[in-house]
Amino acid sequence: MEKKQFQAESKRLLEMMVNSIYSQKEIFLRELISNASDAIDKMYYRSLTDENLQFEQDKYAIYVQADKEARTLTLRDTGIGMTKEELEANLGTIAKSGSLAFKKENEIKDGHDIIGQFGVGFYAAFMVADQVAVVSRSVDSDQAYLWQSDGTDGYTIEPAEKDEVGTTITLYLKENGEEESFDEYLEEYRLKQIIKKYSDFIRYPIKMNVTVS
Ligand code: ADP
Ligand code: MG
Repeated sequence: MEKKQFQAESKRLLEMMVNSIYSQKEIFLRELISNASDAIDKMYYRSLTDENLQFEQDKYAIYVQADKEARTLTLRDTGIGMTKEELEANLGTIAKSGSLAFKKENEIKDGHDIIGQFGVGFYAAFMVADQVAVVSRSVDSDQAYLWQSDGTDGYTIEPAEKDEVGTTITLYLKENGEEESFDEYLEEYRLKQIIKKYSDFIRYPIKMNVTVS
């Protein structure tokens, strides 16, 4: 399978984020939840013009699931999903909105709270995970795709199985180091705390489930 490379600037930003201080890493969850919420918004807007599509309020939610044994954290949404081309275009390069603001501010300001202040986007996942798998099925496609990356060495895309339209993102949490532990992101109370802190305004229900084994 062909492996594609990230853009040079994406790599630099990634390095900065991955090496950011401990307390800022929790914002990865804010970024992923905000993307899930955006994806559901897009589904809603689509339903306004597409009569074949009905926006049933209770079908739309964001699911956060931790598996302590596998050390994975999974975010699932029932949003609009991504085609193969969109996976490539959206996750293969740093998205414009968040990262542009980030870079601009970065020139003026100094200090490590920069990362916490801006929407750094999807790549924030690599602050806590050394492998990220995204399975997505677009509302415009019958075929799902798996995008996978370790965040440093490019990414792969291949066909995958997914019955429902939407996106599932699995984070394979990093090994605990001497000074920091990533196990906290498998704890229900900690996940709730982060969601309350940053994602309280999200309009869709965020449902949580922690499996111990
Ligand atoms: P931003 O949200 O500022 O555009 P991100 O890096 O967070 O930047 O995300 C990049 C793009 O990837 C999004 O604009 C969106 O098109 C796509 N994306 C990310 N997560 C999802 C998701 N859960 N569902 C659908 N599309 C997504
Ligand atoms: Mg985003």
